[in-house]
Formats: sequence, structure tokens, C-alpha cells
Amino acid sequence: MGRRRRRVIRIVKKKLPTVFTCPICNEDAMKVTLPKAEGVATVVCAACGVKDQFDVLRGTQMVDVYCKFTDKFYAAGKTQFTTEVSSSQTG
Ligand SMILES: [Zn+2]
Repeated sequence: MGRRRRRVIRIVKKKLPTVFTCPICNEDAMKVTLPKAEGVATVVCAACGVKDQFDVLRGTQMVDVYCKFTDKFYAAGKTQFTTEVSSSQTG
């Protein structure tokens, strides 16, 4: 009795990317924090410190928030954004 088993289809659980490329500093250091349901998602770049918040609906993915951010960034123009990113320097 040599019954051949059908090939098992493996379900590969791919982890979604949680860190994105920052459009300002081009570092892969942009993190998106999502609320549990509806609420406010936060986008923070660990490299240059840019931060933004978006109202999101339930089921919104990190990449969606990232897209919102990049859209806003390119729509607003690069110059305005960078001025907001000012670290508190004591002189
Ligand atoms: Zn950055």
C-alpha cells in the first residue's frame, strides 16, 4: 500500500512590513501606529523625527496610513514639512 500524499500546501505567514521608508530622510525608519478600531493613527520617523497623525477607519492597514502621509507630504511640498521638524536645541 503506497498511497502518495498530496502535496501539502503550506501557508506562509508573511509578516507585513511595519517600517517604511521616510520620504523626508529616505531612511527605513518610519513607523506607523494604528488604533485598535477607528481612531487616530500616528506616523513617526525614528531617523528625522517627523510626526503626523491621521484619522483612520477600522481595518486600515499601516501601508494605507503611510500612503496618506506620503500623499500629504508630496502635496504640501517638501519645504514646508522640514521646517516643522525642529528638535529642541539648547544652545
Ligand atoms: Zn525621516
